[in-house]
Amino acid sequence: MVLVKNYGKNINLHKIDNDYKLNKYNILICKYCNERNFRFTKKNLIRFKTSVKIIISRKNECHICNNLFQKTINTIQNDIINSHYFIKDNQGKKIDIGTSLPLFLFEKEDNLRSLFKIKGLPNIKNHYNNILRSEIIKVTGYSIDHLNPDIRIQVFIDSQFNYSIKYTTRSLLLLGNYNKYKRGLGQRFSFNNTHNNKKKDHEENQYSHFTIEGIILEYLYVQSGSKNIKIAWSGSEDKNSLVLGNGRPFIVKIDSPHIRNIQQIFEIKGKIRLIFQEVQIEDINKYYQYKIQINTLINIIEDNLDEVDLEKIVSKLIGDIRFQINNKTIKKKIYSTSFKIIDNKNFEMKLLLDNGIPIKQLIGGKEFIEPCLSKLINKKCECLFFDIDEVILNNKNGN
Ligand SMILES: [Zn+2]
Repeated sequence: MVLVKNYGKNINLHKIDNDYKLNKYNILICKYCNERNFRFTKKNLIRFKTSVKIIISRKNECHICNNLFQKTINTIQNDIINSHYFIKDNQGKKIDIGTSLPLFLFEKEDNLRSLFKIKGLPNIKNHYNNILRSEIIKVTGYSIDHLNPDIRIQVFIDSQFNYSIKYTTRSLLLLGNYNKYKRGLGQRFSFNNTHNNKKKDHEENQYSHFTIEGIILEYLYVQSGSKNIKIAWSGSEDKNSLVLGNGRPFIVKIDSPHIRNIQQIFEIKGKIRLIFQEVQIEDINKYYQYKIQINTLINIIEDNLDEVDLEKIVSKLIGDIRFQINNKTIKKKIYSTSFKIIDNKNFEMKLLLDNGIPIKQLIGGKEFIEPCLSKLINKKCECLFFDIDEVILNNKNGN
């Protein structure tokens, strides 16, 4: 016989054996575990000749949860609501909360449920999550989104009911542009440091100001509070090249930022200027499609410009250009060219071309490239340096 009477705070479950003798073994359960397991149990229901009697008990611990709910839920709730993710209010309003509970709680509930043939009800973890979620939503006005939350909150509770809370925020995708005003600043960490570069170099911080990558990462780690940031480049220039105009675009992915509204402009006078804006993942490709306007200084090696019709030769560079990367033939375009003679051995050339054409190869032609300036002039040329004067994003059709 099941007799359910709710007297308030704690519930005492008495199991009476087949002879209707009160079993000496008393099971105490708290109001949470009663609500979850016996909500639908009708009063005076006969079920396998087991009697449940609920009486007040204030002293003992709940047989199922060891008073997990009373002991932890308020504290954890308050910790979450008062965490800087909620106080600063800059992460967005969609959250998800999950809990990891010690295994013995599930085992105890399963035992009790098999004793009373309870099936198909939410378990202790579902119940705990529901209470936590609804209370936090009520207080903060945020909403639950399991699929794509702005903040994912994981609560870990151990067998002593010590807990830790892990917050993961939605990653932040930025389009960056950099201008380089000083020669000698490389774009990326040198080859020896590239593997594992992100974490290692951020921790050691020793390459920070020798590369654009180092400057960007140091700035964004501090700004965002993230522990993992990745840069996807869209081509590079020579260490000694300047990058002027709108600057070269690149994409940054910031994992679990503490702060989303990053200061958009960062400048080290006379050296570098960075501009950032948030972008959507589906738009990324269009930022990799751009043209650059470059200015190169070209030297004729062991010869001079006598009897060279630069006007005619330089204009022959316009049109399709082919070269190879990793045994794959790449086709790009040069749109316009002009030149200025400096002296008998040196001249400047301005080119408007697709991003990604290897400039030194285009001039010197050590590797396959077609057309190639050295071949057109029929004298060995070298590119002393080139600067990027302007970066021009292609429109959506890629024209
Ligand atoms: Zn309980």
